[in-house]
Amino acid sequence: MVKVLAVLYRGGKAAVEEPRLLGALENKLGIADWLKSEGHEFIVTDDKEGPDSVFQKELPTADVLITTPFHPAYLTGDLIRNKAQNLKLAITAGVGSDHVDLNAANEKKITVAEVTGSNVVSVAEHVVMDILALVRNFVPAHEMIERGDWVVADIARNAFDLEGKVIGTLGCGRIGFRVLKRLVAFDPKELIYYDYAALPAAAEKEIGARRVEDLHEFLGQCDVITINAPLHEGTRGLVNKELLSHVKKGAWIVNTARGAICDRIAIKEALESGQINGYAGDVWDVQPAPKDHPWRTMKNPLGGGNGMTPHYSGTTLDAQKRYADGTKDILQRWLTGKEQEPANVIVINGEYATKAYGQRK
Ligand code: NAD
Repeated sequence: MVKVLAVLYRGGKAAVEEPRLLGALENKLGIADWLKSEGHEFIVTDDKEGPDSVFQKELPTADVLITTPFHPAYLTGDLIRNKAQNLKLAITAGVGSDHVDLNAANEKKITVAEVTGSNVVSVAEHVVMDILALVRNFVPAHEMIERGDWVVADIARNAFDLEGKVIGTLGCGRIGFRVLKRLVAFDPKELIYYDYAALPAAAEKEIGARRVEDLHEFLGQCDVITINAPLHEGTRGLVNKELLSHVKKGAWIVNTARGAICDRIAIKEALESGQINGYAGDVWDVQPAPKDHPWRTMKNPLGGGNGMTPHYSGTTLDAQKRYADGTKDILQRWLTGKEQEPANVIVINGEYATKAYGQRK
């Protein structure tokens, strides 16, 4: 018998009415009956902050921890070293395991696995939506209609077509590639990417993308920048005041990767000064975002340019089914001693199994 601890977001009435909200606390990823029938203990909570939280109280006796990026239980180095004595496996129900201190997990030989690919289409679609919402000035237009106003010029003065623009992705893995692929249909001037790993030649050719190896040069060329790299030592705080000074004036930025890749204040100031024309995404430097987080209300000088939402791009109902099934598969393999799907493994036996979390020796 093993003890599995899961930290999931509270779904409330929505989760009771909609059983396909598998990622919610109430629906327990659809694995509660199975785990019980196998004789395992399964604790599920949304209470994740501080030493008195259920998360921290149950952690010392848990063999397996399941978390999600949507309501991240931060498994810090301190918790790994001092509280998670029994922990052998940390599963991310979704994609993106930066809320786990991966270096500390390596020290303690804890395996970290995620359901790679489970929501990459969901996110890529969201990015395309965010890009269009910013470039076409959608949010202020809708707000105007709700207010009962009708002043077309106030919206049109900052509305553009995506056609003919240069669109670039910082990070061109599963999501970045899928974003660019979807944008081909909009006839952009050019699709470019910045990534230390080059796309296979056939993939570059398929979408007509060009790799730019210098980050400043890349930023200076993009009308639209979409961020699709994991959060790690090399990307934390990467988009700061200095880097933003290299961005083409009036560019739009969409970040559905991780909030902490962008500096909170630098983004707000760049938007307010008009250095960037818009910022959208669904990820925040801490989640849930505090009520006074500047990204909730920041605006460009014309009163628009904010397309922020709560973190949900990768948790559509379609995605939830895929990451719930994937979580069960990872768990089942671990319980029966079967090898994990290699693409799902982030760290194992004290080492990084993926090249996506930074360039290492
Ligand atoms: P992936 O591993 O397929 O691709 C990541 C790419 O980023 C890789 O090609 C890697 O080489 C590149 N990269 C890493 N560091 C870089 C750097 N410093 N500069 C440039 N490129 C760099 O991952 P993916 O499936 O495309 O997901 C990417 C990230 O998106 C995840 O790690 C996660 O943080 C985020 N994500 C968000 C949601 C959401 O709901 N908002 C859902 C899924 C994933």
